[in-house]
Amino acid sequence: NVTTAVLEEWVHRFAHLVAENRDYLTELDAAIGDADHGSNMDRGMKAAVAALDASPPATPGALFSKVGMTLVSTVGGASGPLFGTLFLRIGSTLGDTETTSAPQLAAALRAGLGGVVDRGKAGPEDKTMYDALAPAVDALDAALADGADLAAGLKHASDAAAAGRDATTPMLARKGRASYLGERSVGHQDPGATTVALLLEAAAEAAF
Ligand code: ADP
Ligand code: MG
Ligand code: MG
Repeated sequence: NVTTAVLEEWVHRFAHLVAENRDYLTELDAAIGDADHGSNMDRGMKAAVAALDASPPATPGALFSKVGMTLVSTVGGASGPLFGTLFLRIGSTLGDTETTSAPQLAAALRAGLGGVVDRGKAGPEDKTMYDALAPAVDALDAALADGADLAAGLKHASDAAAAGRDATTPMLARKGRASYLGERSVGHQDPGATTVALLLEAAAEAAF
C-alpha cells in the first residue's frame, strides 16, 4: 500500500517530465495539430503543482481532484478536459482512503480510462491518448493478476504505454484535430499518447 505522499511524488515527476518534454510534445502536435500540446500540458501541470504546494492534500481523492480541476480550468482545447477527467476519475475512485493498494490504483486507472472514453468517445486505433492508456491499464491488471507487486506492475504498464504510443505512428487519426488531416495524419506519433507514456513513466519511477 502507498501513501498520499507517494502519489504526490508521481504527480510531481509527471509535471517534471512534461516540462522536460514540452518542446518535443509541441513539435509532435505541430505535425498533426495546432502546435500547442506541450505548452498546454506544461501550463496545466505547473499550475497543478503550484496548487498542491499551496495547500498539500491529505488524501488521494483531494490530490487527484485538485490536479484534475486545475487542468480543466487552465488548459483549453482537447487535452484540458481529457487529462482533467482522467485525474478527476482517479481521484473520485480512490477517495479518502489513507493508503492505496495495488488493486485500488489499478481500478482507479481503469475508471480514469472510462472517463476519457466518456468524454472523448475515442476507441482503439483512433490515434489518441487512448491508444497508450488502454494498454497500460490492461498491462497493470494482467501483471497484478500474475502476482506482481505494484512497482513491477507499473513498470509493465509503462512499457505498454510506450509501445501503445509508438503504435500510434502508422494510425490514421479518427478523433481530435489530427482527424482533419485524414491520410496526412499517418506517419506521425500522437502527442497525447506521448504524454500518457510520460505519465506512466513517472509512475514507474516513483517510489511505489
Ligand atoms: P487541441 O487538439 O485542442 O489543441 P492538445 O493539442 O493539447 O489539444 O491535445 C491533443 C491530443 O488530445 C491528441 O494528441 C490526442 O491524443 C488527444 N485527443 C484529442 N481528441 C481526443 C478524443 N476525442 N479522445 C481522446 N483523446 C483525444
Ligand atoms: Mg493542439
Ligand atoms: Mg489547441
